[in-house]
Amino acid sequence: MTSIAEKIEVVSAHIRHFEQRYHRAPGSVRLLAVSKKHSAEQIRLASVAGIEDFGENYLQEATEKIALLDDLDLNWHFIGPIQANKTRGIAEHFDWVHSVAREKIARRLSEQRLDSKAPLNVCVQVNLSSQAGKSGTTLEQARALCECIDLLPNLNLRGLMAIPAPLPDLESQRTCFRQLANEFERLAKQFPAMDTLSMGMSDDFEAAIAEGSTLVRIGTAVFGARIGQ
Ligand SMILES: *Cc1c(COP(=O)(O)O)cnc(C)c1O
Repeated sequence: MTSIAEKIEVVSAHIRHFEQRYHRAPGSVRLLAVSKKHSAEQIRLASVAGIEDFGENYLQEATEKIALLDDLDLNWHFIGPIQANKTRGIAEHFDWVHSVAREKIARRLSEQRLDSKAPLNVCVQVNLSSQAGKSGTTLEQARALCECIDLLPNLNLRGLMAIPAPLPDLESQRTCFRQLANEFERLAKQFPAMDTLSMGMSDDFEAAIAEGSTLVRIGTAVFGARIGQ
């Protein structure tokens, strides 16, 4: 079995390789290690191997690990669907939220973020595949949500995020990601602080990097398969 450090080396080498292949600036794609269902010990190993950004989907599981790893200087990203009763905990414990899809959630996060902390970094989640039951605003509604977030005092609008339905080949993955990248370019003209295009997972990060992703969210390729899934 390969160690977490070895897996991280392999994923990082792939990211650097795809940056080159698709004429992206070296170092322009950041690796967010998705640690849901993996233990605090595994996160510690990934941190020793140089990872500083971790993504979590479930508030309670995440806060337990965040407390156990309090001695490390890590950036915590919330990437799961957000119920209104979870916003306080998210605003309290996280540095980033990638999955803001509704105004109501954005307002609560801003109200509940302590003024003593830096503003919460926020990406708007877009539902590219119009998947029923999946969260995310439509591409058409993304601008209105960005305008709302931009005015909220304790949120920092940083970009867009999407989780497309699995597609079988590079070309169809690229076509899908391109829609988000085009909207991101348009919005970044209106909101110059937007610098983050959060797209790409273990099975589609080559396509995402080809289309301009600045942050890939990788779980399985970094930590191995998740138990119970
Ligand atoms: C679980 C998850 C990932 C990572 O998925 P892998 O296929 O394991 O790389 C990325 N983004 C989100 C939003 C997730 O929930």
